[in-house]
Amino acid sequence: MTSITLNRRKIVLSAVLGATGLVPGGGAGEARAQAPQPPSGNAGHYRFRIGEIGATVLSDGLIGGPPRIYASDAPEQELQEVLKRAFLPTDHLMLNLNTLLIEVGGRRVLLEAGAGQTMGPNGGRIFARLAEIGLSARDIDVVIVSHTHPDHVGNLRAADGLPSFPRATIFAPKPDWDFFVRGEPDLSYMPVPEDFRRRFAAAIKRSVEPIANGVELYQPGAEIVPGLTTIAAAGHTPGMVSFLVHSGRDQLLLTADLAYHPIVNIDRPWRPGPDRDKDAALGARRRIFDRAAADRIPVLGFHYPFPGLGHLLRTDSGYAWVPAGWQF
Ligand SMILES: [Zn+2]
Repeated sequence: MTSITLNRRKIVLSAVLGATGLVPGGGAGEARAQAPQPPSGNAGHYRFRIGEIGATVLSDGLIGGPPRIYASDAPEQELQEVLKRAFLPTDHLMLNLNTLLIEVGGRRVLLEAGAGQTMGPNGGRIFARLAEIGLSARDIDVVIVSHTHPDHVGNLRAADGLPSFPRATIFAPKPDWDFFVRGEPDLSYMPVPEDFRRRFAAAIKRSVEPIANGVELYQPGAEIVPGLTTIAAAGHTPGMVSFLVHSGRDQLLLTADLAYHPIVNIDRPWRPGPDRDKDAALGARRRIFDRAAADRIPVLGFHYPFPGLGHLLRTDSGYAWVPAGWQF
């Protein structure tokens, strides 16, 4: 019964995906015409402080796909209603790519590398964002990724096949490296067509290939630089972490992919299809969200609407996302 249900879901998704251009590694030509185009002319960076630490959200752009991918267990009618009530399209959910640059201990540390062009044509803007604030990829000393999905490591490879951040030391969680890079991962848990899975896996290996020799593999939970602690959050991937940036009494929690979009994964408890171990992922989400809510820690969501800053509120039924006001 279960396998029939799953197969039916895969078939439905295949039909949807076939028309969406949600294709890892796909070029601009494969993007469907109605995919949202990123606006131009507005700020793509956002500065703030965490205690003594200077921080800047740098948007790498946008990715997206059928909402069902990000809310795999949502009842169809309810999912449609939730999207409509949020004035969002019901056939495409847009996700941001909010990388964070912090300046700590005299070093420029980038949290998440961004997607580049691995998940469609609207990523890879981080280099323009760096130029906006007077920096280039050369000025980055350290890049730390929360996990090795293509939208978090895509920019590590430049168009010429060399490392995009030529001076940077790259840190990646060891369990993810073992699973996705050293191994031949079985991605059958992802509710997407086999062709998508194959390209997704290849995009990871291709993205990290230029930095593979010098990569620093860390254990989830490690403090990587002073002021930056990783929090084990396995489930979405074998090694995913959340980041806690701290300075004095100030903190910022980066939730990585514990949630994709607040509408479906915070305000509603639905589970992302790409979570490898869905129960572990939900457990990590609750554990870390509860801590953020109880301690009133400001939160940055990698995929939340730009700049992705706000708070998690505990409610009777779960959580609510409360975006922070714009700081001028
Ligand atoms: Zn992601």
